[in-house]
Amino acid sequence: MSKSKKKSGLYFQIGLRIALYASILSAISVFIVLCFVSETDIKTDLFFSSLVLILVFILVYLTETRIQQNRLRVLNRIIKNIARKRFQEYEDITTIYNDEVDYVIRQSIRANKMVEKEIQRLNQIENYRKEFIGDISHELKTPIFAIQGFIETLLNGALEDPEVNEDFLKKAMRNVNRLIFLTKDLMEISRLETGEMKSNVEEVFLHDVIVDVIESLTYKAQRDDVRIDFEEFDKNMQVYADRNQIKQVLINLIENGIKYNSAGGRVNVSVEEYLKNESKVIIKVKDSGIGIDDKDIERVTERFFRVDKSRSREKGGTGLGLAIVKHILEAHNEHFYVESKVNEGSTFSFTLKKVEIFTEEENR
Ligand code: ADP
Repeated sequence: MSKSKKKSGLYFQIGLRIALYASILSAISVFIVLCFVSETDIKTDLFFSSLVLILVFILVYLTETRIQQNRLRVLNRIIKNIARKRFQEYEDITTIYNDEVDYVIRQSIRANKMVEKEIQRLNQIENYRKEFIGDISHELKTPIFAIQGFIETLLNGALEDPEVNEDFLKKAMRNVNRLIFLTKDLMEISRLETGEMKSNVEEVFLHDVIVDVIESLTYKAQRDDVRIDFEEFDKNMQVYADRNQIKQVLINLIENGIKYNSAGGRVNVSVEEYLKNESKVIIKVKDSGIGIDDKDIERVTERFFRVDKSRSREKGGTGLGLAIVKHILEAHNEHFYVESKVNEGSTFSFTLKKVEIFTEEENR
C-alpha cells in the first residue's frame, strides 16, 4: 500500500469509531423510546431507528473528521520534522477546543524546540572540538619537530662536540618544557571552554592572594630585570572569587607583564574602586613593556593568538594565557579590560565583587 493511501486511510478512521459508537447508541435509544412511548409497530420503530443511525453516523463522522484532521496533520508534520531534523518555528497552537489534542500538539512543539536546541549545542561542541584538535596538532608540531631536529643532528655526529652537545640538549629541554606548559594550559582551557571546570566562588582576602602571586613571580621578574611594584590597599578587603582561578588570572597577567617587557621595566599591581559599580573593585596590572597595536588588542584573548609568535615561544608562552583569563572572568560574571600603546606599555584590568562588611551601627 502506498504511503499516501495509508495516510488517508488513517485520517478516514479518525472519526469512524466515534461516529459508529454515537450512531449505534442513538439508534438503540430511539428504538427503546419508540417501543415504550409510541404505538407504532416494530417495523416502523426499526425504520426510524435505522434512519437515526445513518443520520447520526454521517453528522458525527463529518464533524469529527473536520475537527481532528487538521490538527492531526499539524501534529504529523511536527513529528516528521523532528525525525528529519528539519526545524522551523511553530507558533503555539491553541484552538477553541483547547483539549487533549491541542495539549499534545503544544507538547510536540516544545519537544521540537528542545531537540533543535540540543542539536545546535552538540554541533557547537563538535565544531569546537574539530577546531581545537586542528589548533593543538599545529601547536604540538613545532616543539616536537624541534626536539627531533636536535636529536637527529646529535646522532649524526654532533655528539662528538661537547659544546654543541650541551647547547642542543638545552634547546631540546626548552622545547620539552614548552610541551609541558602547553599540555597543562590545554587541559585547563578545554575544561573551561566545555564548562567542565566550575568556579567555586567564596569570600577571599584579596590582599593575601595578590601578595602570594607576586612572591611566586619575583624570581622570574628578577631574572628578566623587571620590577614588580605593588600599591598597598586595605588588607581586610574581601571579594567573591574562586581563589585558585583568580590566582591563575593574576599569574597570567603579571607573567605577561614580565615577558613582554624589557630589562629595567616595571609591572605595577593596584586595586581601586570601580567607578561604574560601587559594589566592585578593579584590579589593574600595568606594565611598561612593548605594548600591543590597536588592531591586535581585540584578538589577544583568542586561543593561540600571538602578536609576535617567536617572542611568545622564546619566553615559554603557549598562546592560551589570556584566553584562560577571559574564560575565568566570564565564569565569574566580571569585566575584563585591555588598554595598550605600542612601545609605552599595557594595562590589563578586571573587576571583582566586594564582600560588604557592615559595622554594628549600620546593622542596627
Ligand atoms: P602567550 O602565552 O603567547 O603569552 P597570551 O594568551 O598570554 O599568550 O597572550 C596572547 C598574546 O598577547 C601574546 O602572545 C602577546 O603577543 C600579547 N600580550 C599579552 N600580554 C601582553 C603584554 N602585557 N604586553 C604586550 N603584549 C602582550
